[in-house]
Amino acid sequence: MKIDVVGCMCTWTKLLSTSYIINDEILFDAPQGTFKTLFADYDLTKINYIILSHFHSDHFTDIHLVMDYIYHHCKGKKIIIIAPKGCKERLISLFKIVEVSYLEEALKDMYEIVECENNKIIKLGQYKIKCYKMLHGSVESFGFKIEQNGLIAGFSGDTAMCNNVRKIISKSKIAFVDASNIEKNNKHLCVEEIVSLKEEFTNCKIYPVHMSIYSVEKLKELGIHTPSQGDIVELN
Ligand SMILES: [Zn+2]
Repeated sequence: MKIDVVGCMCTWTKLLSTSYIINDEILFDAPQGTFKTLFADYDLTKINYIILSHFHSDHFTDIHLVMDYIYHHCKGKKIIIIAPKGCKERLISLFKIVEVSYLEEALKDMYEIVECENNKIIKLGQYKIKCYKMLHGSVESFGFKIEQNGLIAGFSGDTAMCNNVRKIISKSKIAFVDASNIEKNNKHLCVEEIVSLKEEFTNCKIYPVHMSIYSVEKLKELGIHTPSQGDIVELN
C-alpha cells in the first residue's frame, strides 16, 4: 500500500492540512486550500474513492473542486464517497454557496455516497474499510482502518483519546494519528498521549499528523519522527 501524505498539519500553519492519497485511487479528506496541490502534484483522474472523515473545513471544503475536476475529466466514471451521515445535504449546500449547483447532476450520475457508522465494514474493490466513531468534541468524526491484501493502515481522523483510537492502532501496522495539541482536551490528541500510544502499541508505527507548530516542535524535541508534506509512506 502506498500512502501519499498530501498534507499533515492543522489549520494554523502555512502548510497544508492533513490529507492523503492511498494507492493513487483513494483520496482521504479534502481540506481548504489543498486542491491547488492535488491538481498540480497528483493525478485526480485516478481517484475511484473518496473518504471524508468529517465536515470541518480543514477536511471538507475543497471537495467541490475535486468533484468538479473529476466530473469534467472523467466522464462516465463512478466514484464512491464514504462520509458521515448528512453528506449529500452538506454537499448540496456547499455547491450552492460557491455557485457550482450544476454539480448536483454529478451527485446523481457520478458519485455514490456510503454513510459511515461505528464498526461498519465497507468493501470497496480490493479494500476492506472499517469505520470507527471517534471523539471530536460534539462533532461526528470518523477514523478508519484500511485493509488491502492483509496489510492494514489506520487513520484516526480528528480525535481525542478514546477506545476507538486504541482499536485502530492495535490492529494496524502503521497509523496516522491526530497529534494537534500540547494540552489534553476533548477534541484532539496531545503529544503526551502520542508518546503513551507509541509505548503501548509497539507493533504499530505511529505517524503523528494534524500537527500544530507547537506540537511538531515538541514531537521533534522528543525525537519522534514526524512526516512532512509530500512524503510517501510504503506499507508492505
Ligand atoms: Zn475537526
